[in-house]
Amino acid sequence: MKWNDKILLRLSSGKNEIDEVIEKLRRIAVLDKTEICNCLRSLVKSSSGALCCTLDASVVRKILFGKKLRFLCKIDSKRSCAGCCDNFTKSPNDLGEKYRSRKEAFRDLVRRPEDLSAYGKHVREAEQSYTQCPFVSFIDEDNCSVGCLLHPLSRINRGNDYRNYGKYGAPLCSAYVCSAIKTLERAPAESRLVFLYLMEYTDDWYHYSRLFSPSVTHSCHRGLVEILLSAWNKCSTRPVPGTIIS
Ligand code: SF4
Ligand code: SF4
Repeated sequence: MKWNDKILLRLSSGKNEIDEVIEKLRRIAVLDKTEICNCLRSLVKSSSGALCCTLDASVVRKILFGKKLRFLCKIDSKRSCAGCCDNFTKSPNDLGEKYRSRKEAFRDLVRRPEDLSAYGKHVREAEQSYTQCPFVSFIDEDNCSVGCLLHPLSRINRGNDYRNYGKYGAPLCSAYVCSAIKTLERAPAESRLVFLYLMEYTDDWYHYSRLFSPSVTHSCHRGLVEILLSAWNKCSTRPVPGTIIS
């Protein structure tokens, strides 16, 4: 029996109400093992009505009721996204290695803004398959957070916005909001609660980015979160989550 069949059998035993959602998840080819596990855990949590949350209470409140959700690009040291800056169909090892190399090259080559072009040239030469922006990288000491090396909020940039050195230019980068965030901004609190459970278990930069990245479902320019919520919403017998927040 395959890993997912075992998990599905265990989780669906005695939980007929989520069978339909599980069947829909099985048919989503772009989901990988971790994502399906995360989603199933979230569904089981939802069906039991228990709210598990390691997230800050103010973040929970904003996710459930906020009108502007752009802050989801980075919410804590584990959950950061670079989904619109890179191709997240690549493996976590490939992307992680690339971001480690870029961080080191940036540290070695960039002393002042004039060095940014030389850094970009170095990345293009070092990465044969390079097509995306060379400035997305790990941005922390422990290589747990991904983000933009040119962003004004980056400590090294001291408030200066250097994104004009990137692939798309500062106006486009600063204005861009992905389709997944826009979908969540329109979503009712119940769907947002499902998303909250997904986030609870999506606590690494790779899978968190894949929740939002349009590259993962490039044919329809949607993040996985939209597909998961759509599967959830189409399930007429889905369980209604119990507690929201106190
Ligand atoms: S894909 Fe969405 S959540 Fe991720 S960095 Fe881009 S705008 Fe932010
Ligand atoms: S410059 Fe723009 S595209 Fe490049 S990493 Fe920064 S935000 Fe992403």
